[in-house]
Amino acid sequence: MAGILVYALHDDEGKFNNNSLGAISEAAKLAGELGSEAAVVVVGDVADDACAGLGAYGAKKVYRAKQVPEGLAQPIVDVMAKVIADEGHSYALFGGGLLGFEIGAGLTARLNAGVTMEVTAVKAADGKLVAERPVLQDSAIVDVGYVSEPGIIIGRLNAFNVSEPGEGRAEVVDVEVELSEWSSRARMRQRGEQRGADVNIEDADVLVGGGRGLGEKDNFKLAEELAEALGGAVAATRAVVDAGWYPYAAQIGQTGKTVAPKLYLAAGISGAIQHKVGMQSSENILAVNKDPNAPIFEFCDLGVVGDLHKILPKLTEAVKAKKGG
Ligand SMILES: Cc1cc2nc3c(=O)[nH]c(=O)nc-3n(C[C@H](O)[C@H](O)[C@H](O)COP(=O)(O)OP(=O)(O)OC[C@H]3O[C@@H](n4cnc5c(N)ncnc54)[C@H](O)[C@@H]3O)c2cc1C
Repeated sequence: MAGILVYALHDDEGKFNNNSLGAISEAAKLAGELGSEAAVVVVGDVADDACAGLGAYGAKKVYRAKQVPEGLAQPIVDVMAKVIADEGHSYALFGGGLLGFEIGAGLTARLNAGVTMEVTAVKAADGKLVAERPVLQDSAIVDVGYVSEPGIIIGRLNAFNVSEPGEGRAEVVDVEVELSEWSSRARMRQRGEQRGADVNIEDADVLVGGGRGLGEKDNFKLAEELAEALGGAVAATRAVVDAGWYPYAAQIGQTGKTVAPKLYLAAGISGAIQHKVGMQSSENILAVNKDPNAPIFEFCDLGVVGDLHKILPKLTEAVKAKKGG
């Protein structure tokens, strides 16, 4: 039975990241529609229980290559190429992110396969998968089908939602892989968390997004104080990330993360299309901007025209007072 193979990235404690869990959930859903199964490749010495636990997201099988290091693309390409050659998977699906892009591209070259990157949705049609990819600065979406197998699908970071964990357990199969000679030429010296990785924007119900309207780096404390009062996290536009005001890990948009919190409060953000594509699925969008003609007012649920330096501190006070009262 042809199926969908997913790569799942984990940290040094064996905890899988959300982006990978989203890819597994998506693969399981699509495999169900195709009448096939989703399987996962895990590298490194991850515990049986943690691997089997991926069954809760819909994986039927986990191929674990214990001897292969996590974090380097080429050895993982070797593992995935072998599993696909042995098991005949029809598709490989990646959740995006830097490593996902690198492995996906490497696997494509290795297998002489077709690839679609920056995919925001995948659908099953006539027993095959079709990837949806935004083009022309996200102003249009194209459907991409595959004329040969396997097809490689690389999603945007966090494009695929994590489904509620179920009760399932995946079968864990250990695989021995002989690494290509070139795959051993790079070694992982140290793995560390990216600066700002503690900004947990994917899981937050409330996000306060800060843009250039904050005026300067130090003013991000206005967004942080409000986010803290609301029990949320802080997100950012590319303009402020590029200016070094806030970590890349918090960037929302075309070249950042895609989020869908219950509330997205955009402070001093113009609402450029490249930012919009990363947050437009938020349940409620509240914008504070001093320019009544700012594009963000065209798609927010509630707009406040005014100076954020006055509005944000007052809002923070009001939230605190309400919570305290
Ligand atoms: C290929 C490509 C990819 C991109 N990817 C991304 C991406 O992933 N994410 C992203 O965010 N951008 C991305 N961009 C950049 C994007 O086009 C915009 O430049 C960026 O989103 C603008 O950020 P901003 O809203 O912070 O700044 P600005 O557009 O400068 O907007 C600042 C806003 O703050 C308001 N303001 C100013 N002072 C105050 C005040 N005191 N009180 C209230 N409001 C105030 C202004 O009226 C203005 O609307 C990309 C661009 C390209 C070309």
